[in-house]
Amino acid sequence: MNTTGSPFKQSMGPDNYGWNNLNSGSDGTVICEFCGSVWPERDGQSYTLLRFLGKQVVAECCGQALDVIYRESGEEFVRVWLEEFAQNPISPKFAIFLRGYLPDALKKARQSSLATAEQISEVQKLLPA
Ligand SMILES: [Zn+2]
Repeated sequence: MNTTGSPFKQSMGPDNYGWNNLNSGSDGTVICEFCGSVWPERDGQSYTLLRFLGKQVVAECCGQALDVIYRESGEEFVRVWLEEFAQNPISPKFAIFLRGYLPDALKKARQSSLATAEQISEVQKLLPA
């Protein structure tokens, strides 16, 4: 089914990243306003809902649209967002970033770089001097 004004004629497929800019879901009947899919009530297992271009999107059928946008423009979005952060770092908009995402990302980057250094060290031991 495709409702009038839906950007897609069919589902694009589920997302790979868990996008949920509404921080909500529903286990009741939901409609994806992107492809027109009507999802039946699902007892106890919530659908992930997004708001995209003013429309409700169900991640299970059209979340992949955001995956594509992320692949094509994610770095540009991050660059602009970090510029906004640099202009006003004490804005409440950045509180979760400063308290959670940034320290977590730096910790993971450190762990990844240490693991890579260990792998390089192991490979170097196998090479002739
Ligand atoms: Zn959809």
